[in-house]
Amino acid sequence: MATRQRMVLPPMDLTGLTVGYWHIQGPAPPKYDRRGCAIKMWHCICRCGVEKDVRDSEIRRYGSLSCGCFNREISSTHHSSRTRLYEIWHGMKQRCNNPGSKDADNYHNRNIRVCDEWNDSFENFQRWAIENGYSDNLSIDRIDVNGNYSPENCRWVTQVQQARNTRFNHLLEFNGKCQTMADWADEIGIDYYTLAKRIEKKWSVERALTQPVDHKKNKYKNKGEMTNGISFSESKKNSDED
Ligand SMILES: [Zn+2]
Repeated sequence: MATRQRMVLPPMDLTGLTVGYWHIQGPAPPKYDRRGCAIKMWHCICRCGVEKDVRDSEIRRYGSLSCGCFNREISSTHHSSRTRLYEIWHGMKQRCNNPGSKDADNYHNRNIRVCDEWNDSFENFQRWAIENGYSDNLSIDRIDVNGNYSPENCRWVTQVQQARNTRFNHLLEFNGKCQTMADWADEIGIDYYTLAKRIEKKWSVERALTQPVDHKKNKYKNKGEMTNGISFSESKKNSDED
């Protein structure tokens, strides 16, 4: 087994140095141990603002890195990320490996798998996640929805981004063009959720895509057409949007 060499700062003036979260302001009055020997101290300010005199020996051997806030931060982020990430990892394996999983039809039975590197090791998956911008508000997304869970095919996205990429994304056909609801929303300049709501209410595709949104103060009100040139003379009669 390799022995770990501990880094130690040489005896020198530490004024102005930053060690961990401590910013060292300068020498502080010494303290005295039980035998009356002076203990060299430094006056330090932690990144969080806490001021404290810290023993020279503690700073030098990196024994004290903050007022305590550093450890609290590490344990809280590490703990929550690890728990949520672990659930993501476990869920992914469950969907792909277990033919009895409730989602088997969308994963296992479509031959979607978890790459060996991740399948065999949570730590590998965790490392990839952290290195690729994981945070607790993001979900794992497969870029190619028919591809596997692997570093090449995965990324972390918000839920809105993910909704756009699902294979069940609603396709709408209009004027000979077929694309997802999200793409139509972008193209026409209508809010995605407004469009989705219209379709859900069984509006015709044509009406859902062409009728201007009936805001209280519709900026197209007096112009008679939307920016894309589609007329909306019917819109006032049909404003059943809430
Ligand atoms: Zn602190």
